[in-house]
Amino acid sequence: MKFKKFFIKTCNELEGEKNTTRKIACKKCGKKISVSKIRKNYFVCPNCGNYYLVRARRRILMLADKRSFIEHDRELTSKNILSFPEYDEKLEKAKIKSRENEGVICGTCLIGGVKVCIFSMDPYFMMGSMGSVVGEKITRLFEYATKNSLPVLGITVSGGARMQEGMLSLMQMSKVSAAVKRHSDKNNLYINLLTNPTTGGVNASFAMLGDITLSEPHARVGFAGPRVIEKTLNKSLPKGFQRAESVLKCGFIDMIVERKNQKELISKLLIMHS
Ligand SMILES: [Zn+2]
Repeated sequence: MKFKKFFIKTCNELEGEKNTTRKIACKKCGKKISVSKIRKNYFVCPNCGNYYLVRARRRILMLADKRSFIEHDRELTSKNILSFPEYDEKLEKAKIKSRENEGVICGTCLIGGVKVCIFSMDPYFMMGSMGSVVGEKITRLFEYATKNSLPVLGITVSGGARMQEGMLSLMQMSKVSAAVKRHSDKNNLYINLLTNPTTGGVNASFAMLGDITLSEPHARVGFAGPRVIEKTLNKSLPKGFQRAESVLKCGFIDMIVERKNQKELISKLLIMHS
């Protein structure tokens, strides 16, 4: 594993990807599609419309104006403070898989010419789980945005709080929420885009605190998983439970927006509020 690390290409730059004719099979419909076609289609299957997971840095590339992203706190990484078994190994594996230091990327960029603070969670880093570094990075971003009167755009994907950090990860829920409140008290805008899945402690804190809450189609949005709820209630759950479409009907989401339209819509919202 250590030797393998030698060859990791860090994903520092947003631009500069090679074109590839390599084909992969869609996990949903099974059709073989070229990687470049999937990329051009915003990582949505052109055949069946299945939404693929998107790396945090790719998300920013899809939304930010060209060459406008400046990263904050890239050097912060988690430590195994509680000496939780196998956590160190899991962190190393997550770094290789995601090519990132942590489960969230934070910084500033322009979207439609408007300067915005942006955080983007990475599904390839322990499924965007929130440990103390994820919480700290997002808190610092909100504090920076408050100080500089900037809006915040969040893109959330998370299985919830990182259990390997116990109470330290749970306390991030209130820490980030308090920073969101201070940002809001100064009349600053916070838009959050929920992506599949946004669950657990992230859902129960900053993911649902936006002034405007957007979601991708079919994203799972909820707190506890459906199997846990079914077992606790001893009842079967309705079809589409915790999917964005049903959460929208319950009033927790303002709008569902397809991936190809996200940049345009977010630009408009930012311009309207600037
Ligand atoms: Zn497909």
